[in-house]
Amino acid sequence: MALIVQKYGGTSVGSVERIQAVAQRVCKTIKAGNSVVVVVSAMGKTTDGLVKLAYEISKNPNSREMDMLLSTGEQVSIAIVSMALQEFGQPAISLTGAQVGIVTEAEHTRARILHIETERIKRHLNQNKVVVVAGFQGITRTEELEITTLGRGGSDTSAVALAAALRADFCEIYTDVPGILTTDPRLVPEAQLMDEITSNEMLELASLGAKVLHPRAVEIARNYGVPLVVRSSWTDDPGTWVVSPQPRPRSLVDLEIARSVDDIEFDINQAKVSMLRVPDKPGVAARLFGEIARQDVDVDLIIQSIHEGNTNDIAFTVMTPILKKAEAVAVAIAPVLRSQKAAENEEAEVMVQQNIAKVSIAGAGMIGRPGVAAKMFATLAEAGVNIQMISTSEIKVSCVIDNADCDRAIASLRTAFEIEVKEGEPDQGVKSSSSSSSFVPFSPFPHPPVRGVALDMKQARLAIRQVQDRPGTAAKLFGLLAQHNISVDMIIQSQRCHMMNGIPTRDIAFTVTRIDAQAAQKMLQQAAAEYGWGEVVLDSAIAKVSIVGAGMVGQPGIAATMFEALSQHQINIQMIATSEIKISCVVAQEEGVKALQVIHTAFGLAGSQSIQVPA
Ligand code: ASP
Ligand code: MG
Repeated sequence: MALIVQKYGGTSVGSVERIQAVAQRVCKTIKAGNSVVVVVSAMGKTTDGLVKLAYEISKNPNSREMDMLLSTGEQVSIAIVSMALQEFGQPAISLTGAQVGIVTEAEHTRARILHIETERIKRHLNQNKVVVVAGFQGITRTEELEITTLGRGGSDTSAVALAAALRADFCEIYTDVPGILTTDPRLVPEAQLMDEITSNEMLELASLGAKVLHPRAVEIARNYGVPLVVRSSWTDDPGTWVVSPQPRPRSLVDLEIARSVDDIEFDINQAKVSMLRVPDKPGVAARLFGEIARQDVDVDLIIQSIHEGNTNDIAFTVMTPILKKAEAVAVAIAPVLRSQKAAENEEAEVMVQQNIAKVSIAGAGMIGRPGVAAKMFATLAEAGVNIQMISTSEIKVSCVIDNADCDRAIASLRTAFEIEVKEGEPDQGVKSSSSSSSFVPFSPFPHPPVRGVALDMKQARLAIRQVQDRPGTAAKLFGLLAQHNISVDMIIQSQRCHMMNGIPTRDIAFTVTRIDAQAAQKMLQQAAAEYGWGEVVLDSAIAKVSIVGAGMVGQPGIAATMFEALSQHQINIQMIATSEIKISCVVAQEEGVKALQVIHTAFGLAGSQSIQVPA
């Protein structure tokens, strides 16, 4: 007998018939010998309606009252679902977040869960009742029992958190789509259903805008090892399993806020190849990385920085033993790629740097918590470590640094993030690479290296010219953004270096969500004046396309396939950034959808079955 948490979204409880279908499914699960906790959203578009109502009364509704209002939607559905179960002869009881004891932060409209009392739920389960819990809501710790909500779409998070707290066997998310798809089927009709995906892959995809799951729900599933399945409410099809490796033991206190970093990883065996002043036109990255792939050279990080004039810098890292091979490819291809203008420039086209190391913080929800990356940069600055390259993703932030700084960097990061050295792992100071990452294969069937492709049309790019290249700069810059809770993605420093009053400077570019862009630009302009940085340039007409897949680790040619697909369709790549399981390219906004489609096809992700999704 299993304990199962079943969550039903708004559409799944959108009408009397649908609620009856939900009740039937719950009864069937009980008859099969299980205990069930049901979590529901508000019926249909109820929450949207309530938001609209609030804005008809006030331009800027009070957030406490907003929570009071929005939480009513779920209170309606729990009572109705409970009644439907009772009609079918199934004992059931509905509970609000307050009645359960879902305790959250006092942050109205976006509260994170701190802990969940399980005593009352367990008591009712022991009486053979189905417990129907209101999703999306909680209460504060205060004596006043203030009602909070978790943020739109938050009932997924309620469900997975309940599953973690109750140590349920698994959590089922019932929705109006058949599961998790390789991409957005409204843009790519050939999108295909996956039967399984890792929580790390899902975290990347969710933060890139795959809307089936609330990203915070995936974080909790990953952190507590809750097996999660996304299924259609209308069928008995198996849906998509989101699987996680066995997590480190973790307390259920401060459930959503404790410990976003659970590991420090490092790799000292790296070298960097940079190509300066390559022409800014379609096909350049494809040629370079196509040749690199043909030579079977596995590249780790790749960046292509924003263009100054009409040339770009491209840099990539490889393991030291294959540096010579990688360098040879770059040198051979450089004259072919060289633009007219660059020919007159004395600076070398290919630069190689040995003795670099990559240090990473690993965890979940890094981009969503801008303070985490900022803390990493500040820690490195305090240790006097200069950062040469940065790679960001939802599950990892990596910095390329000088090898000589590596021990110091690791030691200070371990202290800052309170990471204990795992048994059997080399202690800091030992020159050995650790790849303690959590990408364990789960299924006996090999997955394709790329699982999903995502398009983010809601990003803008900011570039700051002539920022001093010395320890503490990234800390200052991204610390400032973090203070204003602005999340940053795709951070790229130019490889080219300009001397300004005897100090080396580089350009730094990064993407932020478009709604934050103007505020960020203003703030950075002020900072630029204060610190002597150059111009702060904003470009909002961009699109970001990304591929995600744990199988791309250690597999040459994945980047090349992506760049080649873009090149064949004459789509210019403006920026490239990679992390271990993700490669992102910035392209012009109007080419975003096309880019998504051609990349999806290039990786053979298209299926013949067309998947219906509601608008
Ligand atoms: N009813 C809430 C919303 O519409 C929570 C949810 O559906 O997950 O955002
Ligand atoms: Mg939802």
